[in-house]
This record gives sequence, C-alpha cells and structure tokens, in this order.
Amino acid sequence: MAEHTRFGPAGVPPMFRLLGAKTHDVPKLLREEGLDAFEYQAVRWGPKPQMKQEDAQKLGEEARRNDVRLSLHGSYFINLSGKRDVIEASKRRLIASATAADWMGAYVMVFHTGFYGRVEKRFAFKNCVEALKDVSAEMRSLGLKVKLGPETMGRKFQVGTLDEIMTICEEVEGTQLVIDWGHLHARHQGTFKSVGDMRAVAEKVEYRLGTEVLKTMHCHFSKIEFTSQGEKRHHVLDEKRYGPDFRMLAEVIADFNLHPTMICESPILDVDAIKMRDTLKGIIEARSTAAQP
Ligand SMILES: [Zn+2]
Repeated sequence: MAEHTRFGPAGVPPMFRLLGAKTHDVPKLLREEGLDAFEYQAVRWGPKPQMKQEDAQKLGEEARRNDVRLSLHGSYFINLSGKRDVIEASKRRLIASATAADWMGAYVMVFHTGFYGRVEKRFAFKNCVEALKDVSAEMRSLGLKVKLGPETMGRKFQVGTLDEIMTICEEVEGTQLVIDWGHLHARHQGTFKSVGDMRAVAEKVEYRLGTEVLKTMHCHFSKIEFTSQGEKRHHVLDEKRYGPDFRMLAEVIADFNLHPTMICESPILDVDAIKMRDTLKGIIEARSTAAQP
C-alpha cells in the first residue's frame, strides 16, 4: 500500500486511562478509533530509561501488530547550549530516551534542543550542533537505530527556529525533521494566516532538505495561544479564538502529496487527531471528485 499520512496522539488519551488501559493496550485502542500513530511521552525522564525494557518491547509488538507508528518524546530537561555539566547531563538524558525508543522500535525520538541563555545566539546554536554530533556518534556506537528528532520551538528564548532545525538536519547524521506548526505559529506571532503561509514552509524545507524529507516529516499540531514571547498554551481545534487552522496544513499535504506523521498535541488528543484525519480525508476526496470528468 502507498504511504499515507498518519495521525495519532501525543501521549495516552484521557479516556483510555479512565478505561484502565495499560500502555501496551494503546495501539489496539487507537486502531479501533482509526488512528495509526502514537507518541510515547518520556518527557520527565532523567539519565536512565524510566520504563522496563520488556514493557517497551511489548508496546512495540502491539504497535506493529496494529500498524501504529511509534515515536517517543524525550526528556524536557535538555539544554545542549548550557554549561558543560548541563550539556553532559542532557546528553545522558537523550541517550536514555533513545535507548527506550529503540526498545519499542520507535522511528524517531523527538526532543527540545535548548535555550540561548546569555551567550550570543549563534554561539549557543553552535554548541547545540556540536553536542548533537556527539550524541549521534554515541548512538551509532551503541547500535541505536532511532532517529534524532529536533523540534521547532514556540518560545523566542528556545533554540529551534525552522532554519536552525533544518541546519541540524543538514549537519548531524541520523536526524529526522520535526515541525511543530503550533510552535512556529506562536513564535512568529500568528504567522500562519493562509494556505500560502504554510506552503512557504514546505517549499523552504524542500529547497534545503529535499523532497523526501518534506514528504516524510514528523509533525506536531494543535491550536495555540501566544504572548509577545511566543507559546503560551495549546488549545483544541474547535477553539475559534486561536490558530492555526488545520485545514490550511491539510491543503498543503494534499498539494505536495505528502505523507507525514501527524501527532496531535491538543488537550483532547485522540478526539482532535480524528478531526484532523477527517479534514484531510475530506479535502483529498473533494479533489478527486473535482478531477472526475
Ligand atoms: Zn515537544
């Protein structure tokens, strides 16, 4: 079957928890909802994996059985441009997240790169790239196959503009492009007002990283509230006061014939992931009807 856009939640949907589901039950429950991606949240982890290897493997088996693509969101406690000891501790946390991601067969370990701090932005960024080269080399020597997924970030003091993330993808081996559209929207004060605004991002990515990277990008999406400093809070898709509108991104996905993995980060994870999936489906169906003679 041809590759298709996948949709799923960032973390275990609240309703699954109410039903008493275990982590390894999640892929089957998502499949029953017609979803096919899941981002495991390892966001509070320290320097060691905080799940058992056998539990990770069981989740991986269930994901493969139900054709649910797994990703893992690594620790929030990462700063690759901080002081030397902070950078070293951050590397340990990234390796711990990557180790567990590999156990479960996740294809990408998403993470936040760091903060500019007091040093000049370009120096802070250079430190991040150097640290990531070390992490990438260590992962290869450990035989870890999961891709490193630096994410575009929503606050102005965080490393992670689109250009910076693309540079990391160019310079560090074994990376996967991760675009958080809500973050970009917030960082640039509501930048996505039309389909063209989103298309411009796709064109930039294609120009610098190539068509295949664009087609297979890993995405986070939700509506987002922001201040002058950027991201403030994620919101549900039906929230009219905030953007961006997923319909615009769905148009771009259809235009460029993309098949990204779309992870929904709205407060109602799976419910909005289903809405996103149906929005894209509607657009693709409308186009194929319009194309009929
Ligand atoms: Zn994130």
